[in-house]
Amino acid sequence: MQKFLVDKSGFYGEFGGAYIPEILHRCVTELKDSYLEILESELFKKEFEQLLRDYVGRPSPLYLSNYLSHKHGCKIYLKREDLNHTGAHKINNTIGQILVAKRLGKTRIIAETGAGQHGVATATVCALMQMQCIVYMGKTDVERQAVNVKKMEMLGATVIPVTSGNMTLKDATNEAIRDWCCNPIDTHYIIGSTVGPHPYPDLVARLQSVISEEIRKQLLEKENHAVPDYLFACVGGGSNAAGTIYHFLNDDDVKIVLAEAGGKGIDSGESAATIQIGSVGIIHGCKTLVMQNEDGQITEPYSISAGLDYPGIGPIHANLVTTKRAQVIAVNDDEALQAAFELTRSDGIIPALESAHALAALDKVSFKPSDIVVLTLSGRGEKDLETYFKYESTIH
Ligand SMILES: *Cc1c(COP(=O)(O)O)cnc(C)c1O
Repeated sequence: MQKFLVDKSGFYGEFGGAYIPEILHRCVTELKDSYLEILESELFKKEFEQLLRDYVGRPSPLYLSNYLSHKHGCKIYLKREDLNHTGAHKINNTIGQILVAKRLGKTRIIAETGAGQHGVATATVCALMQMQCIVYMGKTDVERQAVNVKKMEMLGATVIPVTSGNMTLKDATNEAIRDWCCNPIDTHYIIGSTVGPHPYPDLVARLQSVISEEIRKQLLEKENHAVPDYLFACVGGGSNAAGTIYHFLNDDDVKIVLAEAGGKGIDSGESAATIQIGSVGIIHGCKTLVMQNEDGQITEPYSISAGLDYPGIGPIHANLVTTKRAQVIAVNDDEALQAAFELTRSDGIIPALESAHALAALDKVSFKPSDIVVLTLSGRGEKDLETYFKYESTIH
């Protein structure tokens, strides 16, 4: 029954596990031994649900787009994670993890961030819970994402620029792991996606699974049928996708489509299409598909969308694609931009560039008139306005 969820040893098929240095063993084991009991306790559930409702603004609406439905000749619903507090799905995970950290008696929170979205979501919940917050961010990203850096600082976080490697997300993650090694007693590391050593992929997937829990209820209300024909989501590390599909994994009739970032084309050498061009390797404590060269060195990913350019992918998704439970479609920069401008004009919704990858993937599938499609709009486009303004003239 549970064939697509994590097994007792922390694996999804051949992917997953916890490939960590000895020095991290204690922190990861502490979390592994306690997370399920915490997540399943009535007090945790009550506090989590209450914050999701009153602070995040859940349930997020399930919106039928008449334009997209007409265009694709079926029914297309958008799951509006863009309407959450802080503008994306990431807050579901950071709220949940800070409640876990509190129960573990931690007082100090660390996080990694690429574009700054996870950093902002973490700094937000640290302000809410009055916890110390340190965010590691590659120096290149610090310079590229000045507004998010300022936001995190305004929220009370300390942003530490990382100058190793290419000074981007992968290097920030390494630095956060190093910090955790040095501070195992008082510190919890809030990972931002379904990546990292077990139990993180499962922990993050469970916290994000509220998305599919709501979709089932909302579809039942609107369609008298809880199960759609298709689910679409973009994948960076895979957390909004994991949340979208979690409660549908064993419904064999639900087709799962994952949109990854093709960048300038998957054969261009500038892409983040990890599932299609990656090979089995280990990244940040997890065995999964990784973009790497022949020597096993991680290669730098590229996408116009900062949230999608991670050189790995969640082990859940690696397994789903390898076992053919899910289909993966690469969407290039220009296709995502086009889809973002289209939704803006058709529905008055400016989507995040990441979410626009999922929208563009709709064009690559043909639907039957009876099909019910749910696509998760993972975030809003505020953070991408500069990019949109820059490309606007090339779109029309
Ligand atoms: C971070 C981010 C993503 C990618 O992360 P996942 O873990 O793959 O969901 C997608 N959309 C938005 C809006 C994001 O901020």
